[in-house]
Amino acid sequence: MAPDRNYFRDRTQQLEYRYKQAKANQLESKVDLRHDFTDMEAQIGRAKMPPSSPNVCPECWIMRHREVLLEPVASDDPSRFDRWICRAKDCGYSEDRRTGLK
Ligand SMILES: [Zn+2]
Repeated sequence: MAPDRNYFRDRTQQLEYRYKQAKANQLESKVDLRHDFTDMEAQIGRAKMPPSSPNVCPECWIMRHREVLLEPVASDDPSRFDRWICRAKDCGYSEDRRTGLK
């Protein structure tokens, strides 16, 4: 089973919200955050364009523009789901995927 594509939609909404908040803060503080906005705009763009492989870590892709493959590990309940984790030191993303078994 492919990972939940809603993940990318939800992350897009979160990042767009954060972006709007940062823009509002900049208007209040008059601090130049242009570089941050460039990063955020790129992250939002990647959240809207998921990587072609379902096994690429979505957080590494969205936040750091890296294609790190998720690795399957033993889950708490292997008959119901598999756990896939990202081994990048600065990430820590994991997801549970339902197995085809009941
Ligand atoms: Zn990752």
